[in-house]
Amino acid sequence: MADTVRVRFAPSPTGRLHIGGARTAIFNWAFARAMGGTFILRIEDTDPERSTQENVDVILNAMKWLGLNWDEGPEVGGEAGPYFQMQRMHTYTEALERLKERGAVYPCFCSKEDLDAKRKAAEDAGQAYEGYDGTCRDLDPAEAQRRIDAGEPHVWRLKVPRDHGPIAFTDAVYGPTSFPVEVMDDMILVRTDGSPTYNFAVVCDDANMGITHVIRGDDHLSNTPRQILIYEALGLPVPTFAHLSMILGPDGKKLSKRHGATSVEEYRDRGFLPDAMVNFLALLGWSLDGETTIMSRDTICSEFSLDRITKKDAIFDETKLNWMNGQYIQKMDAAEWVRLSRPWLARAHAAGYPYVQTAVVPTPDKNAPAPEIELEPLTDEQLAAYDDELAAQPAFYEALYPLVAEREQRLSEGEEKLAYMFWGPCVLLDEKSVKKVLLKEGARAEEALAACREVLADESCEWSAAVLEEKCRALAEPLDMKLKNLLQPLRVAICGNMVSPPLFESIELLSREDVLARIDATMAEVFA
Ligand code: GLU
Repeated sequence: MADTVRVRFAPSPTGRLHIGGARTAIFNWAFARAMGGTFILRIEDTDPERSTQENVDVILNAMKWLGLNWDEGPEVGGEAGPYFQMQRMHTYTEALERLKERGAVYPCFCSKEDLDAKRKAAEDAGQAYEGYDGTCRDLDPAEAQRRIDAGEPHVWRLKVPRDHGPIAFTDAVYGPTSFPVEVMDDMILVRTDGSPTYNFAVVCDDANMGITHVIRGDDHLSNTPRQILIYEALGLPVPTFAHLSMILGPDGKKLSKRHGATSVEEYRDRGFLPDAMVNFLALLGWSLDGETTIMSRDTICSEFSLDRITKKDAIFDETKLNWMNGQYIQKMDAAEWVRLSRPWLARAHAAGYPYVQTAVVPTPDKNAPAPEIELEPLTDEQLAAYDDELAAQPAFYEALYPLVAEREQRLSEGEEKLAYMFWGPCVLLDEKSVKKVLLKEGARAEEALAACREVLADESCEWSAAVLEEKCRALAEPLDMKLKNLLQPLRVAICGNMVSPPLFESIELLSREDVLARIDATMAEVFA
């Protein structure tokens, strides 16, 4: 076990999986993969007030969605388990016994009130409180034991060796780092109720799980010298540490809610792809060669190394993420696009559904604002209706992909961009497009629509995008019209606006009956 890399991601289930945590998870995962090592997921649930099962589930789901498969941990188990700290209490008790035997800890009977009073006195005197003053450090052991036996509440503190030189280590990212031992007070390892403190539990777990590299956010840097003292007290080897710089928003401030979405599932719900997220997050503080931006999981997993992690704070640039996501959408498999687009395609489908049924032209008043696409959560019936549709005609759904593959930066855009595919036989007409393309051109636009309708109504004509487009385009000359003036009215009649996905590819996917009905409804609506 000693030669193989073992790393862990150790979230506390006190909230969702945030972007920073996901980045830490990715670095650990990629490092394990690159080194042929083991990636462990450990849940640090010792804060009973803030840890919840719901958060555990959310974190596991976010990890799975990102595709960060762990080799040991919840659900998969492993030899070093259990992987929830609350189930490891006996290991902390054992470690405390070992420290007692080694004379490295002492019981402290100072009450919280005593300590608060000392802190306040220091503050009142204008001095900085320097931590615990060691009142119980030199209690006579027999006396201490007597007080323990008498049931007096006590914590266990680490007896920091006062003759220890600077606590030095070589951080894999920051390089040689050291902290003076003088600033380390005798920290509590085990609380009055017997529970371990964060630093103690982490060291016990990392040691018992054979962790070789601790890769985590640099908000933990100040904990590292304390943890090193605990390793030394236990007589255990110290792992390699790698601390990751902060992630900043575009304004240079620490990434937070102020900057918008921060949790992984928010990004999922906004239409980002797991592959794009992993690629983007892997580049927050690491680079392959300083240039390459798009790289597959396989590349990240084979090429990841600690020496290419930068000390510089990483900037979370959402414009770049959007762009990158668009690149991934362009390359993805159509069936996968359908699978991942379910929430938005279902919504587009549901938005079209009532119009099909009622066949009411939805914008009778041209001055009224265009109806908004429903953003309410879908009902179970709506989702079921969509799933039935999808099951009945999967090829239709896959054929939607090329319509938007180069136009979407996020899967969620499919809802708006493709809604018209579900509207027939009536179309939600965009007011601006109607004015500009149909009303302004008046009779000429009507003429163009009527001519195209005739082509589309001709049953002898093959129903394919290429043939229909060629025949419609051929109308330009006899009608003495620019192509734009000829085809834009048709686009508005079929899709509702001027900026829709490719027109004839869309027409091919709709039925002739639907297409003609859309044209008729639009003509009746606008020119009657
Ligand atoms: N549970 C800690 C956290 O969520 C991480 C501990 C560690 O990585 O050492 O911040």
